[in-house]
Amino acid sequence: MKYYSTNKKVTGVSLQDAVVKGLAEDKGLFMPDTIKTLPQSFFDTIENLSFQEMAYMVADAFFGEDVEAEALKKIVYETLNFDVPLVHVVDNIYSLELFHGPTLAFKDIGGRFMSRLLGYFIQKQNDTKVNVLVATSGDTGSAVANGFLGVEGIHVYVLYPKGLVSTIQECQFTTLGQNITALEVDGTFDDCQALVKSAFMDVELNAKLKLTSANSINVARFLPQSFYYFYAYAQLKKLGKAENLVMCVPSGNFGNITAGLFAKKMGLPVKRFIAANNRNDIFLQYLQTGEYRPRPSVSTIANAMDVGDPSNFARVLDLYNGSHAAISAEISGVSYNDEQIAETLKSCYQETGYLLDPHGAVGYRALIDKLDANETGVFLETAHPSKFLETVENIIGEKVEIPLKLQEFMKGEKKSEPITKDFQSFKSYLMAI
Ligand SMILES: *Cc1c(COP(=O)(O)O)cnc(C)c1O
Repeated sequence: MKYYSTNKKVTGVSLQDAVVKGLAEDKGLFMPDTIKTLPQSFFDTIENLSFQEMAYMVADAFFGEDVEAEALKKIVYETLNFDVPLVHVVDNIYSLELFHGPTLAFKDIGGRFMSRLLGYFIQKQNDTKVNVLVATSGDTGSAVANGFLGVEGIHVYVLYPKGLVSTIQECQFTTLGQNITALEVDGTFDDCQALVKSAFMDVELNAKLKLTSANSINVARFLPQSFYYFYAYAQLKKLGKAENLVMCVPSGNFGNITAGLFAKKMGLPVKRFIAANNRNDIFLQYLQTGEYRPRPSVSTIANAMDVGDPSNFARVLDLYNGSHAAISAEISGVSYNDEQIAETLKSCYQETGYLLDPHGAVGYRALIDKLDANETGVFLETAHPSKFLETVENIIGEKVEIPLKLQEFMKGEKKSEPITKDFQSFKSYLMAI
């Protein structure tokens, strides 16, 4: 399978190059030349497959031409080697809990899959070491670092803003050691992202080192997220609830929802999608006006969605040939402010006993407000509430239990290297590794 760039100046790129480069040279995002439809027989029997079996069929459609069957199977099975997501019913709305991986956030799947696919290519080519740079406001860093931990031939540098990530999040990438280095940047998340971007653009650095990105611009990070849309469908089919399915996705960079749109293109019977946003409502504005106007992000209590220029919007546009009408027909948008998010989290907990995290709360609320009577709604619960401990405890006025998996991280010793937001000093650091 070949990949082209959403900016259309780059075509015919191999999967390996798309994964290693991350972003195309024309600064567009890579898209596969074709999206294969899965056969009807797959959907007829999907509820009898394990999550791994089903995910392998989906992975084969994307990557089967470029990765040998046995290797791909191993990558998929290793990626999903943890408790499967759960479907949990809250009133008449379904929560697809995607927080049962190692760092309790949905990004685990993409991080693990990408690390193994990249590892496969490095091994196959006997390639030099690849350096993954990832800027994080919290969740991406932990998922990527844990996904890549111990993978041979790859070193990960996590850049995070000093004092601006929660203690739990920080522990998840500063205590690992091995091939993971945490860089504590004296600056904001935007400064971290700017350092990473400058590094990718720097000719001298790229001549010396192989650098790649593990953000959701990378096809190997976002595409595997389509697996759990199939899983959700299968679970609802088992319950006799798969008709008129509406998938609601709490969205930031739109990687997650884009994976869902790919699943639909592959034939998954989803009626429509809702992109649920916090106050960063650039997508909703686009739906309403037909114009895409990125603007600086504002900070909210659902901070993993504080994105003012969602990078995967380019992929959404490309999937629908730039047609605003086609996009509006399949995806609707909503936006909630912090008060609404907090109120939803609190009332859901009080009335049903189900504890949402602030991101899931946005998705849940969107279904309460926007679902038609004949539809079945599933929202993606993207992280465990304890990852946003202080926020959630303040809202419900109770202590939240921290799962053992998360407590384990907090026992480790924090190791990070302080750097400034000045690119020259970051560059010197990288030149010396
Ligand atoms: C990353 C993240 C999101 C947003 O996902 P995108 O793919 O960036 O749209 C939502 N919730 C949580 C908890 C996240 O970590």
